[in-house]
Amino acid sequence: MTRILTSETLAHIGETVTVAGWVHSVRDHGKVLFIDLRDRTGLLQVVSGGWTPEAYEVLKTVGPEWVVQITGTVAARPEKLVNPDIITGTVELQAAQVTVLSESLTPPFPIDQDTVELDEEMRLKYRYLDLRSQRMHANMTARAKLFDATRRFFVGEGFTEIDTPVLTATTPEGARDYVVPTRKPGQFYALPQSPQQFKQLLMVAGMERYFQIARCFRDEDSRKDRQPEFTQLDFEMSFVEQEDILTLAERWLTKVVAALYPEKHFTFTPWPRIPYKEVMEKYGSDKPDLRVNKDDPNELAAFFVVDFPMFEPDEKGGWTFMHNPFTSIHPTDLERFMNNQDIGELLSQQYDMVVNGYETASGSIRAHKPVELRKTLEIMGFDEARIQLNFGHMLEAFQYGVPPHGGMAPGLDRLVMILQNEPNIREVIPFAKTGTGFDPMTGAPSALRPDQLTDLGIAIIPPKAA
Ligand code: ASP
Repeated sequence: MTRILTSETLAHIGETVTVAGWVHSVRDHGKVLFIDLRDRTGLLQVVSGGWTPEAYEVLKTVGPEWVVQITGTVAARPEKLVNPDIITGTVELQAAQVTVLSESLTPPFPIDQDTVELDEEMRLKYRYLDLRSQRMHANMTARAKLFDATRRFFVGEGFTEIDTPVLTATTPEGARDYVVPTRKPGQFYALPQSPQQFKQLLMVAGMERYFQIARCFRDEDSRKDRQPEFTQLDFEMSFVEQEDILTLAERWLTKVVAALYPEKHFTFTPWPRIPYKEVMEKYGSDKPDLRVNKDDPNELAAFFVVDFPMFEPDEKGGWTFMHNPFTSIHPTDLERFMNNQDIGELLSQQYDMVVNGYETASGSIRAHKPVELRKTLEIMGFDEARIQLNFGHMLEAFQYGVPPHGGMAPGLDRLVMILQNEPNIREVIPFAKTGTGFDPMTGAPSALRPDQLTDLGIAIIPPKAA
C-alpha cells in the first residue's frame, strides 16, 4: 500500500489511506486511544477504540517513538475538536490496521518538548533523537532552505558551483590547522581553513564566477558562534571592484530573507559601508549590534565594515596580515606599501559583513599581481624559502595572466542562527560538537590503535604532567 504523508491526509477525507511515522504521544482515555503520529511533515491524530479491535489491541502496546504504519479512514473533526496548532488539525485518522515497524526504548529525554534547556552533551550524544524535536527539525529545514535559495541565487547570477579539496596543504587564515597524517612518514595534509587559494586559482583558471557551500576547518576554541568545522558560502569573482562584491552580497541576503523570512526587515537599506576607523571610534568594536530595538526578533541590522588596516602587529614585534595574505592594499596606499612606509597605517581592500553584532562574512579584493603578494609576505618577514614553501604555487600561477578578482565568504551557520533566533550555532548545525570540540555521539576525537600509529609512523609523546 502506498504511504501518504500526514500533511496529505487533508486531501483524502472519507478515504482509506496508509500513513507511517513515529508515535509522538499516546493518550489512553480508557475506551478510546489517541495517538499523535509524527512524520517529516508534522503530526496527525490517530484514534482507535473497541470498534476496531485489531488496531486497538496493537496500539495499546505501543510507546513513544515506536515506528508504526497505520491504515485507516480520514475523518473530518467536528468543529469544536479542531486543533489549530497542527496542520492536520481539522482531520483525524480512524485506525483500522496497525503494523509495528520497529519498537523504541524510552528516549533519554522527551522528544515532544523543546530540548533547548536540556544538558547539551546528552543532546549531542543522542543527536538523532534531538533532531526529531520540532524546533531542531525546523532549524534543519530552515538551513536547507537557505542553502537552496543561495544556490539558486548564485546560479542565477552566472556563478559556477565548484568543489575544492579537503585534503590539502596548509592555508593561512589566521587559525591553527587540523592536520591529517598520511602513510608517507612525516608527510601531512592540512584541512582547509577555507578554500581561499583554490578559489583564487579558479579565477586564474578563467571560471570568473565561482561559488560553493564549503566546509572549513579551524583548530580554535569553540564559542557560541564558532565550531571546529563550519560551513561557508564561499564565492569569488573576476573583473570586479569592492563595491560589486558588496552589492552582490547585499542583494543575495536581501532576496533570500524576503523569500524565506518575510516577517523580517532590515534596519538599513541600502546597508551602510562604515570605515573600520569610524566603527572602532564610534562603537569600540568592529562588529557592533546596530539594531534599533534589540528585543525585536525580526530586525536585521546589516552593514559592511570597509577599509580595514592591512597589517597588525604580531606577538614577536613584526607584522602580520589582518585578514589573509592575499588581500590587496587600498589603491591610495599602494606607493607607501611598495616602499615599506607606515606599515601600521596602510589600509587594505578587506571588508566584513556584520549582522546583529556578529561578523557574518569577510572578504577582500586580492593582490593579483605577484609583486604585491610578494611584498605582503616580505613585510610579514617571510624569507624566500618560506615564501616558496607556502606560496610558491600561487606565485607561479600568478605569472600566467591573472584577472583582477575578489570574493567573500559568509558564514552560513551564523546566518541560520541569526535568522532562526537561536542563541548559538550548535542549535543549527546538524551534528555539532561540544564547546571543547568533542562529539559525544561518535566519541571523536579519539586515540588511534597502535597498529594505525605504526602505519603512519607516528609516536605519541605523553603529555607532561601538570
Ligand atoms: N577566505 C576568507 C575567509 O574564510 C574569505 C574571503 O576572503 O573570501 O574568511
